[in-house]
Amino acid sequence: MIPFSPPRIDDKICNEVVAALKSGWITTGPRTKSFEKKITEYCGNKASLCLNSATAGLEIMLRWYGVGEGDEVILPAYTYSATANVIIHCGARPVFVDVNAHDFNINIKEVEKAITNETKVIMPVDFGGMPCDYEALNILVREQKNKFVAANEIQKKLGRILILSDSAHSFGASINNKKAGSLCDVSVFSFHAVKNLSTAEGGAIALNFEEPLFDNRTIYNHLCVKTLHGQNKDALAKTQKGNWKYDIVEAGYKCNMTDIAASIGLVELERYDSDTQVKRKHIIDLYQTLLKSDNRLELPLYETDGKKSSYHLYPLRIKNITEQQRDRIMQEIFDRDVSVNVHFIPVPGMSFYKKLGYNLQDYKTTYDNFSREISLPVFYDLSDEQIKTVVNAVIAALDKVC
Ligand SMILES: *Cc1c(COP(=O)(O)O)cnc(C)c1O
Repeated sequence: MIPFSPPRIDDKICNEVVAALKSGWITTGPRTKSFEKKITEYCGNKASLCLNSATAGLEIMLRWYGVGEGDEVILPAYTYSATANVIIHCGARPVFVDVNAHDFNINIKEVEKAITNETKVIMPVDFGGMPCDYEALNILVREQKNKFVAANEIQKKLGRILILSDSAHSFGASINNKKAGSLCDVSVFSFHAVKNLSTAEGGAIALNFEEPLFDNRTIYNHLCVKTLHGQNKDALAKTQKGNWKYDIVEAGYKCNMTDIAASIGLVELERYDSDTQVKRKHIIDLYQTLLKSDNRLELPLYETDGKKSSYHLYPLRIKNITEQQRDRIMQEIFDRDVSVNVHFIPVPGMSFYKKLGYNLQDYKTTYDNFSREISLPVFYDLSDEQIKTVVNAVIAALDKVC
Protein backbone atom coordinates (compact mmCIF):
# COMPACT_ATOMS: atom_id res chain seq x y z
CA MET A 1 0.00 0.00 0.00
CA ILE A 2 1.38 3.42 -0.95
CA PRO A 3 0.63 5.71 2.01
CA PHE A 4 -0.66 9.28 1.63
CA SER A 5 1.90 11.35 3.55
CA PRO A 6 3.99 9.60 6.20
CA PRO A 7 6.49 11.86 8.01
CA ARG A 8 10.18 11.70 7.18
CA ILE A 9 11.87 10.13 10.21
CA ASP A 10 15.54 9.39 9.59
CA ASP A 11 18.65 9.03 11.77
CA LYS A 12 19.28 12.76 11.73
CA ILE A 13 15.88 13.44 13.30
CA CYS A 14 16.26 10.60 15.82
CA ASN A 15 19.73 11.80 16.86
CA GLU A 16 18.55 15.36 17.43
CA VAL A 17 15.55 14.20 19.46
CA VAL A 18 17.87 12.07 21.61
CA ALA A 19 20.22 15.05 22.01
CA ALA A 20 17.29 17.20 23.17
CA LEU A 21 16.22 14.52 25.66
CA LYS A 22 19.75 14.09 27.00
CA SER A 23 20.28 17.85 27.31
CA GLY A 24 18.01 17.75 30.36
CA TRP A 25 15.81 20.52 28.90
CA ILE A 26 12.70 19.06 27.28
CA THR A 27 10.05 21.80 27.55
CA THR A 28 10.19 25.28 25.95
CA GLY A 29 13.82 26.37 26.07
CA PRO A 30 16.90 27.05 23.95
CA ARG A 31 15.88 24.83 21.00
CA THR A 32 12.45 26.44 20.71
CA LYS A 33 14.00 29.93 20.89
CA SER A 34 16.54 29.01 18.23
CA PHE A 35 13.80 27.53 15.99
CA GLU A 36 11.80 30.77 16.35
CA LYS A 37 14.80 32.89 15.29
CA LYS A 38 15.43 30.70 12.27
CA ILE A 39 11.78 30.81 11.21
CA THR A 40 11.91 34.62 11.33
CA GLU A 41 15.12 34.69 9.26
CA TYR A 42 13.67 32.25 6.75
CA CYS A 43 10.29 33.95 6.32
CA GLY A 44 11.50 37.55 6.50
CA ASN A 45 8.79 38.52 9.00
CA LYS A 46 9.42 40.44 12.22
CA ALA A 47 9.07 37.97 15.11
CA SER A 48 7.84 34.37 15.47
CA LEU A 49 6.37 32.42 18.34
CA CYS A 50 6.27 28.62 18.35
CA LEU A 51 3.29 26.80 19.83
CA ASN A 52 1.91 23.27 20.07
CA SER A 53 -0.39 23.74 17.04
CA ALA A 54 -1.56 26.11 14.34
CA THR A 55 -5.04 25.93 15.82
CA ALA A 56 -3.77 27.36 19.12
CA GLY A 57 -1.94 30.10 17.21
CA LEU A 58 -5.04 31.14 15.26
CA GLU A 59 -7.19 31.25 18.40
CA ILE A 60 -4.59 33.16 20.40
CA MET A 61 -4.36 35.83 17.69
CA LEU A 62 -8.17 36.21 17.53
CA ARG A 63 -8.20 36.63 21.31
CA TRP A 64 -5.23 39.02 21.20
CA TYR A 65 -7.24 41.18 18.77
CA GLY A 66 -10.20 41.03 21.17
CA VAL A 67 -12.53 39.12 18.86
CA GLY A 68 -15.69 38.01 20.65
CA GLU A 69 -19.46 37.99 20.70
CA GLY A 70 -21.10 40.14 18.02
CA ASP A 71 -18.00 40.10 15.82
CA GLU A 72 -17.70 38.56 12.37
CA VAL A 73 -14.70 36.78 10.90
CA ILE A 74 -14.51 36.11 7.15
CA LEU A 75 -12.99 32.82 5.97
CA PRO A 76 -13.23 30.53 2.95
CA ALA A 77 -15.87 27.77 3.02
CA TYR A 78 -13.19 25.51 1.57
CA THR A 79 -10.86 24.86 4.48
CA TYR A 80 -10.23 22.48 7.36
CA SER A 81 -12.63 22.95 10.28
CA ALA A 82 -9.89 24.25 12.61
CA THR A 83 -10.05 27.62 10.83
CA ALA A 84 -13.74 27.97 11.71
CA ASN A 85 -13.75 26.26 15.11
CA VAL A 86 -11.43 28.86 16.67
CA ILE A 87 -13.88 31.61 15.65
CA ILE A 88 -16.65 29.71 17.45
CA HIS A 89 -14.41 29.28 20.53
CA CYS A 90 -14.12 33.07 20.73
CA GLY A 91 -17.91 33.49 20.53
CA ALA A 92 -17.74 35.26 17.16
CA ARG A 93 -19.57 34.40 13.94
CA PRO A 94 -17.79 32.67 11.03
CA VAL A 95 -18.77 34.29 7.73
CA PHE A 96 -17.92 31.79 5.00
CA VAL A 97 -17.29 32.96 1.46
CA ASP A 98 -16.76 31.06 -1.77
CA VAL A 99 -13.37 30.33 -3.35
CA ASN A 100 -11.76 30.62 -6.79
CA ALA A 101 -12.12 27.80 -9.28
CA HIS A 102 -8.49 28.06 -10.41
CA ASP A 103 -6.50 27.89 -7.13
CA PHE A 104 -9.09 26.87 -4.46
CA ASN A 105 -8.28 30.08 -2.53
CA ILE A 106 -10.62 32.69 -1.03
CA ASN A 107 -12.33 34.82 -3.67
CA ILE A 108 -11.50 38.48 -3.09
CA LYS A 109 -14.74 39.79 -4.66
CA GLU A 110 -16.73 37.56 -2.29
CA VAL A 111 -14.68 38.85 0.66
CA GLU A 112 -15.48 42.43 -0.33
CA LYS A 113 -19.22 41.63 -0.47
CA ALA A 114 -19.09 40.00 2.97
CA ILE A 115 -17.50 42.92 4.85
CA THR A 116 -19.82 44.65 7.36
CA ASN A 117 -19.38 46.96 10.38
CA GLU A 118 -19.04 43.80 12.48
CA THR A 119 -16.10 42.38 10.50
CA LYS A 120 -12.99 42.24 12.66
CA VAL A 121 -10.76 39.72 10.92
CA ILE A 122 -10.26 38.05 7.53
CA MET A 123 -8.70 34.59 7.65
CA PRO A 124 -7.45 33.60 4.19
CA VAL A 125 -6.20 30.01 3.80
CA ASP A 126 -3.28 29.16 1.50
CA PHE A 127 -4.84 26.00 0.10
CA GLY A 128 -2.37 23.22 -0.69
CA GLY A 129 0.46 25.69 -0.18
CA MET A 130 -0.54 28.17 -2.89
CA PRO A 131 -0.55 31.70 -1.40
CA CYS A 132 -3.78 33.74 -1.56
CA ASP A 133 -3.92 37.10 -3.30
CA TYR A 134 -2.43 39.07 -0.39
CA GLU A 135 -1.78 42.19 -2.44
CA ALA A 136 -5.51 42.53 -3.12
CA LEU A 137 -6.41 41.68 0.49
CA ASN A 138 -3.94 44.19 1.92
CA ILE A 139 -5.40 46.90 -0.32
CA LEU A 140 -8.99 45.87 0.44
CA VAL A 141 -8.72 46.17 4.25
CA ARG A 142 -7.16 49.63 3.87
CA GLU A 143 -9.86 50.76 1.41
CA GLN A 144 -12.55 49.56 3.82
CA LYS A 145 -11.15 51.40 6.87
CA ASN A 146 -14.25 53.59 7.15
CA LYS A 147 -16.46 50.53 7.77
CA PHE A 148 -14.30 49.32 10.65
CA VAL A 149 -15.61 49.88 14.17
CA ALA A 150 -12.79 49.59 16.73
CA ALA A 151 -13.81 48.13 20.09
CA ASN A 152 -10.51 48.24 22.01
CA GLU A 153 -7.07 49.88 22.04
CA ILE A 154 -5.38 47.39 19.72
CA GLN A 155 -8.21 47.61 17.18
CA LYS A 156 -8.07 51.42 17.39
CA LYS A 157 -4.35 51.35 16.73
CA LEU A 158 -4.61 49.09 13.66
CA GLY A 159 -7.75 50.95 12.59
CA ARG A 160 -8.89 48.29 10.17
CA ILE A 161 -9.72 44.64 9.65
CA LEU A 162 -6.88 42.34 10.69
CA ILE A 163 -5.57 39.82 8.16
CA LEU A 164 -4.82 36.58 9.99
CA SER A 165 -3.58 34.05 7.47
CA ASP A 166 -4.14 30.34 8.01
CA SER A 167 -0.79 29.38 6.48
CA ALA A 168 -1.00 25.81 7.79
CA HIS A 169 0.03 24.58 4.30
CA SER A 170 2.25 27.33 3.02
CA PHE A 171 5.53 27.38 4.93
CA GLY A 172 8.11 28.20 2.25
CA ALA A 173 5.60 29.43 -0.35
CA SER A 174 6.21 32.87 -1.85
CA ILE A 175 4.87 35.75 -3.91
CA ASN A 176 7.54 37.58 -5.94
CA ASN A 177 10.16 35.92 -3.72
CA LYS A 178 8.54 37.23 -0.51
CA LYS A 179 7.87 34.26 1.72
CA ALA A 180 4.64 33.29 3.48
CA GLY A 181 4.85 34.82 6.95
CA SER A 182 5.80 38.21 5.52
CA LEU A 183 2.81 38.70 3.19
CA CYS A 184 0.25 40.15 5.66
CA ASP A 185 -0.23 41.16 9.35
CA VAL A 186 0.01 37.68 10.89
CA SER A 187 0.41 34.18 9.46
CA VAL A 188 0.09 30.94 11.36
CA PHE A 189 1.98 27.83 10.25
CA SER A 190 1.24 24.23 11.15
CA PHE A 191 3.96 21.67 11.86
CA HIS A 192 1.48 18.81 12.31
CA ALA A 193 2.68 15.33 11.27
CA VAL A 194 1.19 15.52 7.74
CA LYS A 195 2.45 19.00 6.93
CA ASN A 196 5.51 19.87 4.78
CA LEU A 197 7.64 20.77 7.76
CA SER A 198 6.71 18.72 10.78
CA THR A 199 7.59 18.72 14.47
CA ALA A 200 5.09 15.85 15.13
CA GLU A 201 2.67 18.43 16.48
CA GLY A 202 3.39 22.14 16.42
CA GLY A 203 2.79 25.52 14.93
CA ALA A 204 4.11 29.04 14.77
CA ILE A 205 2.70 32.55 14.73
CA ALA A 206 4.62 34.77 12.29
CA LEU A 207 4.14 38.39 13.37
CA ASN A 208 4.56 40.97 10.66
CA PHE A 209 2.85 44.14 11.88
CA GLU A 210 3.83 47.47 10.40
CA GLU A 211 6.53 49.14 12.49
CA PRO A 212 6.80 51.54 14.24
CA LEU A 213 2.99 51.58 14.66
CA PHE A 214 3.39 48.20 16.38
CA ASP A 215 6.44 46.76 18.08
CA ASN A 216 6.42 43.08 17.06
CA ARG A 217 8.91 42.19 19.81
CA THR A 218 6.56 43.58 22.46
CA ILE A 219 3.66 41.62 20.96
CA TYR A 220 5.88 38.51 20.98
CA ASN A 221 6.65 39.01 24.69
CA HIS A 222 2.98 39.47 25.47
CA LEU A 223 2.07 36.32 23.51
CA CYS A 224 4.70 34.30 25.42
CA VAL A 225 2.89 35.18 28.63
CA LYS A 226 -0.56 34.64 27.10
CA THR A 227 0.36 31.14 25.88
CA LEU A 228 1.92 30.07 29.21
CA HIS A 229 -0.79 30.52 31.87
CA GLY A 230 -0.41 34.30 31.88
CA GLN A 231 2.75 33.73 33.89
CA ASN A 232 5.29 36.53 33.71
CA LYS A 233 8.32 34.18 33.77
CA ASP A 234 8.80 31.01 31.75
CA ALA A 235 10.38 27.81 33.09
CA LEU A 236 13.80 28.69 31.69
CA ALA A 237 13.82 32.15 33.32
CA LYS A 238 12.81 30.56 36.63
CA THR A 239 15.88 28.29 36.58
CA GLN A 240 18.14 31.36 36.86
CA LYS A 241 19.65 31.31 40.34
CA GLY A 242 17.25 32.70 42.93
CA ASN A 243 14.74 33.73 40.25
CA TRP A 244 11.85 31.62 41.54
CA LYS A 245 9.11 34.21 42.11
CA TYR A 246 6.48 34.74 39.44
CA ASP A 247 3.15 36.43 38.95
CA ILE A 248 0.02 35.66 36.93
CA VAL A 249 -0.95 38.75 34.98
CA GLU A 250 -3.90 37.30 33.05
CA ALA A 251 -5.85 34.02 32.83
CA GLY A 252 -3.58 32.69 30.11
CA TYR A 253 -3.64 29.57 27.97
CA LYS A 254 -1.23 26.63 27.83
CA CYS A 255 -0.01 25.89 24.33
CA ASN A 256 3.78 26.29 24.27
CA MET A 257 6.11 24.18 22.07
CA THR A 258 8.47 21.66 23.67
CA ASP A 259 12.20 21.57 22.91
CA ILE A 260 11.74 17.95 21.79
CA ALA A 261 9.40 19.15 19.02
CA ALA A 262 11.72 22.08 18.22
CA SER A 263 14.66 19.67 17.81
CA ILE A 264 12.76 18.01 14.93
CA GLY A 265 11.85 21.40 13.48
CA LEU A 266 15.48 22.58 13.51
CA VAL A 267 16.57 19.57 11.43
CA GLU A 268 13.65 20.00 9.02
CA LEU A 269 14.19 23.72 8.57
CA GLU A 270 17.91 23.31 7.92
CA ARG A 271 17.21 21.02 4.93
CA TYR A 272 13.90 22.49 3.85
CA ASP A 273 14.89 24.46 0.73
CA SER A 274 17.89 22.42 -0.32
CA ASP A 275 16.27 19.02 0.05
CA THR A 276 12.58 18.77 1.12
CA GLN A 277 11.24 21.33 -1.33
CA VAL A 278 13.41 20.06 -4.20
CA LYS A 279 11.94 16.61 -3.70
CA ARG A 280 8.34 17.79 -3.32
CA LYS A 281 8.59 19.90 -6.46
CA HIS A 282 10.05 16.91 -8.31
CA ILE A 283 7.08 14.76 -7.26
CA ILE A 284 4.54 17.35 -8.37
CA ASP A 285 6.37 18.03 -11.65
CA LEU A 286 6.38 14.31 -12.39
CA TYR A 287 2.63 14.00 -11.70
CA GLN A 288 2.04 16.95 -14.05
CA THR A 289 4.14 15.36 -16.81
CA LEU A 290 2.49 11.97 -16.49
CA LEU A 291 -1.08 13.28 -16.26
CA LYS A 292 -1.16 16.27 -18.58
CA SER A 293 -2.18 14.41 -21.74
CA ASP A 294 -5.34 12.98 -20.15
CA ASN A 295 -8.04 15.51 -20.97
CA ARG A 296 -10.46 14.09 -18.38
CA LEU A 297 -8.25 15.74 -15.76
CA GLU A 298 -7.84 19.28 -14.45
CA LEU A 299 -4.32 19.66 -13.07
CA PRO A 300 -3.50 21.90 -10.08
CA LEU A 301 -1.75 25.27 -10.32
CA TYR A 302 1.41 25.52 -8.26
CA GLU A 303 3.56 28.16 -9.94
CA THR A 304 1.90 31.19 -11.48
CA ASP A 305 2.28 35.01 -11.87
CA GLY A 306 5.01 35.39 -9.26
CA LYS A 307 3.39 32.92 -6.85
CA LYS A 308 5.11 29.74 -5.81
CA SER A 309 3.42 27.00 -3.85
CA SER A 310 5.08 25.16 -0.98
CA TYR A 311 4.14 21.95 -2.87
CA HIS A 312 2.07 20.73 0.05
CA LEU A 313 -0.75 18.97 -1.83
CA TYR A 314 -1.45 17.65 -5.29
CA PRO A 315 -5.18 18.46 -5.58
CA LEU A 316 -6.26 16.79 -8.80
CA ARG A 317 -9.75 17.40 -10.20
CA ILE A 318 -11.70 15.20 -12.60
CA LYS A 319 -13.81 17.05 -15.18
CA ASN A 320 -17.58 16.57 -15.32
CA ILE A 321 -18.10 14.06 -12.54
CA THR A 322 -20.44 13.95 -9.57
CA GLU A 323 -19.44 13.60 -5.93
CA GLN A 324 -20.67 9.97 -6.03
CA GLN A 325 -18.47 9.21 -9.05
CA ARG A 326 -15.52 10.81 -7.30
CA ASP A 327 -16.09 8.56 -4.29
CA ARG A 328 -16.25 5.50 -6.56
CA ILE A 329 -13.01 6.54 -8.31
CA MET A 330 -11.33 6.88 -4.92
CA GLN A 331 -12.50 3.40 -3.92
CA GLU A 332 -11.03 2.01 -7.16
CA ILE A 333 -7.72 3.77 -6.42
CA PHE A 334 -7.66 2.36 -2.86
CA ASP A 335 -8.40 -1.09 -4.32
CA ARG A 336 -5.15 -0.69 -6.27
CA ASP A 337 -3.24 -0.16 -3.00
CA VAL A 338 -2.80 3.59 -3.30
CA SER A 339 -3.92 5.98 -0.53
CA VAL A 340 -5.65 9.14 -1.63
CA ASN A 341 -7.55 11.85 0.19
CA VAL A 342 -10.00 14.72 -0.28
CA HIS A 343 -8.99 18.23 0.75
CA PHE A 344 -11.35 19.21 2.21
CA ILE A 345 -14.89 18.32 3.09
CA PRO A 346 -16.00 21.98 3.22
CA VAL A 347 -16.85 23.29 6.69
CA PRO A 348 -20.47 24.42 5.96
CA GLY A 349 -21.22 20.77 5.08
CA MET A 350 -20.25 19.50 8.54
CA SER A 351 -23.03 18.51 10.99
CA PHE A 352 -22.12 21.11 13.59
CA TYR A 353 -22.13 23.94 11.05
CA LYS A 354 -25.28 22.67 9.33
CA LYS A 355 -27.00 22.84 12.71
CA LEU A 356 -25.92 26.48 12.97
CA GLY A 357 -27.77 27.10 9.69
CA TYR A 358 -24.96 27.04 7.14
CA ASN A 359 -25.57 25.29 3.83
CA LEU A 360 -22.82 23.98 1.55
CA GLN A 361 -25.02 24.64 -1.52
CA ASP A 362 -24.56 28.39 -0.90
CA TYR A 363 -20.91 28.07 -1.95
CA LYS A 364 -21.08 26.87 -5.56
CA THR A 365 -17.39 26.81 -6.49
CA THR A 366 -16.43 25.34 -3.13
CA TYR A 367 -18.86 22.48 -3.70
CA ASP A 368 -17.80 22.02 -7.32
CA ASN A 369 -14.09 21.89 -6.38
CA PHE A 370 -14.76 19.51 -3.50
CA SER A 371 -17.00 17.16 -5.46
CA ARG A 372 -14.37 16.58 -8.15
CA GLU A 373 -11.19 16.66 -6.02
CA ILE A 374 -8.78 13.83 -5.20
CA SER A 375 -5.43 14.56 -3.51
CA LEU A 376 -2.61 12.25 -4.59
CA PRO A 377 0.22 11.18 -2.24
CA VAL A 378 3.10 13.65 -1.80
CA PHE A 379 5.84 12.83 0.70
CA TYR A 380 9.61 12.92 0.83
CA ASP A 381 10.25 9.20 0.47
CA LEU A 382 7.85 8.71 -2.48
CA SER A 383 9.85 7.16 -5.34
CA ASP A 384 9.40 7.73 -9.09
CA GLU A 385 8.35 4.09 -9.37
CA GLN A 386 5.60 4.66 -6.78
CA ILE A 387 4.49 7.85 -8.55
CA LYS A 388 3.99 5.79 -11.72
CA THR A 389 1.97 3.25 -9.70
CA VAL A 390 -0.23 6.08 -8.37
CA VAL A 391 -0.75 7.48 -11.87
CA ASN A 392 -1.64 4.05 -13.29
CA ALA A 393 -4.11 3.49 -10.47
CA VAL A 394 -5.78 6.86 -11.14
CA ILE A 395 -6.07 6.19 -14.90
CA ALA A 396 -7.37 2.64 -14.37
CA ALA A 397 -9.94 3.91 -11.84
CA LEU A 398 -11.11 6.60 -14.25
CA ASP A 399 -11.39 4.10 -17.11
CA LYS A 400 -13.53 1.89 -14.92
CA VAL A 401 -15.89 4.51 -13.43
CA CYS A 402 -16.25 7.12 -16.21
C1 LIG B 1 -3.67 21.24 9.47
C2 LIG B 1 -4.49 22.46 9.34
C3 LIG B 1 -4.80 23.28 10.43
C4 LIG B 1 -4.50 22.87 11.85
O1 LIG B 1 -3.16 22.71 12.12
P1 LIG B 1 -2.77 22.11 13.57
O2 LIG B 1 -1.30 22.40 13.67
O3 LIG B 1 -3.07 20.65 13.50
O4 LIG B 1 -3.56 22.83 14.58
C5 LIG B 1 -5.46 24.46 10.22
N1 LIG B 1 -5.85 24.82 8.98
C6 LIG B 1 -5.62 24.06 7.90
C7 LIG B 1 -6.05 24.53 6.57
C8 LIG B 1 -4.94 22.83 8.05
O5 LIG B 1 -4.75 22.05 6.99
